[in-house]
Amino acid sequence: MLVTRFAPSPTGHLHLGHAWSAWQAWRRARDAGGRFLLRIEDIDTGRCRPEYEAAILDDLGWLGLEWERPVLRQSEHFARYRAALSAIRERGLAYPCFCTRADIRREIEAAAGAPHGPPDPTGGVRYPGTCRSLAPAERQARIERGDAYAWRLDTAAAMAQSGALAWQDEDAGEVTADPAPFGDVVLARKDTPTSYHLAVTLDDAWQGVTLAVRGKDLFAATHIHRLLQAVLGLPALIYCHHPLLLDAEGKRFAKRDRSLTLRTLREQGRSPAEVIAMAEGWRQG
Ligand code: GLU
Repeated sequence: MLVTRFAPSPTGHLHLGHAWSAWQAWRRARDAGGRFLLRIEDIDTGRCRPEYEAAILDDLGWLGLEWERPVLRQSEHFARYRAALSAIRERGLAYPCFCTRADIRREIEAAAGAPHGPPDPTGGVRYPGTCRSLAPAERQARIERGDAYAWRLDTAAAMAQSGALAWQDEDAGEVTADPAPFGDVVLARKDTPTSYHLAVTLDDAWQGVTLAVRGKDLFAATHIHRLLQAVLGLPALIYCHHPLLLDAEGKRFAKRDRSLTLRTLREQGRSPAEVIAMAEGWRQG
């Protein structure tokens, strides 16, 4: 059975681009007689707000989407993420990282001139691997001293254990997973027992999602999600990375574009059908 999902983060109001993504996921499930699930990605407890979550449910209901209950709220599943992280650690594929952002910046600057890889494909900074080679005794001493640390995946070791990997992409066909350019991604942040990559990978499997419908901006992240699926022994999904709605400059919508939030469109008296037609006819790329 086809199972799709929409997985917003409650850090602001949904805009037309979100409505478009949610609607496509819902429609795919509906057309196939499948299931449509909703997941609130609220691991960033500092930025997420209950009022945004309530507004998301309200806006999606207004749009006419129906989803199964209960809604999965990631902040209620930290124990499950911790357990998965332990399993990765037991396989020797994760290490504690004590670096601050400033440390990482300094390290990269110091290495300038020396050959180093491209930035993280999602536009972030690629971690130079500083803490990967810390001696076990030093790790232990720093943990005991109370230094804050994140957990990172030893991506090269994970790739070596997993062997060649690929995923099925509706648009791109079979894509060979190449997680190396991401470097050692964070599995658990200093302040949160998971990261986006770990939680999204675990929850797609936990919820039994078979088709992840999401924007093209997350295409690159799928390389790392595929690797994590292999490391955790989770089934591979099919992905549909749909085009994004673009603003006048050809850039994708941001939450700051208040004029195109579903709230505002509703207040302007637009109907759900008009909103979907608006998204369908919008500039996409
Ligand atoms: N929570 C992510 C976002 O709001 C989406 C995660 C996903 O679809 O994989 O961008």
